[in-house]
Amino acid sequence: MLVKTDQISKGYGLGENKVTALQEINLSVPERSFLALVGPSGSGKTTLLTLLGGLNRPDRGTLWIDDIDVYGLSGEKMADFRREYIGFVFQQFHLMPYLTALENVMLPLAVKKMAVQEQRRRAIALLERVGLAGKEHRLPHQLSGGEQERVAIARAIVNKPPLILADEPTGALDSQMGEQIMELFQELHRDGLTIIMVTHNLDYLRYVSQAAYLKDGRLQKVEEISP
Ligand code: ADP
Ligand code: ADP
Repeated sequence: MLVKTDQISKGYGLGENKVTALQEINLSVPERSFLALVGPSGSGKTTLLTLLGGLNRPDRGTLWIDDIDVYGLSGEKMADFRREYIGFVFQQFHLMPYLTALENVMLPLAVKKMAVQEQRRRAIALLERVGLAGKEHRLPHQLSGGEQERVAIARAIVNKPPLILADEPTGALDSQMGEQIMELFQELHRDGLTIIMVTHNLDYLRYVSQAAYLKDGRLQKVEEISP
């Protein structure tokens, strides 16, 4: 099991203002899954995704990723762990507006102090892979929403993390571009990546291997979806 949670609960606020966002979530995600997290607005999907990414800590419960007890790590170790294990495609992690597509994708490699030629080589290959050959030197505002999303996906996977977490990756896109992004995720899944994605769009369940349904902060069921 790549990802496994045991009885994760999380609330926001204090005292009588406390909102329960998640209750006793037990979720197991095998390696090479493409899992959709679905449920109504406010059901806890984003909260669960941020907890799975170690961006936040729960009130109770345990998370193992690759047998590492993630919440047992100190803040600094957790940050190292995230860089190593997780590619985030989150709406709040925008592209850097003054860096080109290529420079945005090179950024995670630059942080790791990889040689610049190798950074460029990898980033160019990946931009080609996501259908952006010839657009490497454009700034984000010179790209369409779908193209920006592709740059964000390339940036998330350039480090070759075993796990991709995506929060509504198609949320800002029209349906045609949304389908193209889903096709890209499906290809990455077929190549062996494990992907966990929040979506509102039940049409997209045809691309995934499993769907986990949340309601009122509880996990209702996990469904296997046959290809
Ligand atoms: P979803 O992603 O399914 O829309 P969220 O995880 O965003 O659900 O929210 C779950 C619940 O927690 C909701 O009741 C929401 O209002 C609340 N919530 C989420 N984030 C915060 C926050 N930062 N502060 C207070 N309440 C929050
Ligand atoms: P989504 O529907 O895409 O999950 P939300 O509208 O639930 O997005 O949340 C957007 C952002 O607002 C998130 O960062 C979430 O943590 C925060 N948020 C959600 N609900 C609340 C809340 N009740 N109070 C404070 N912050 C919240």
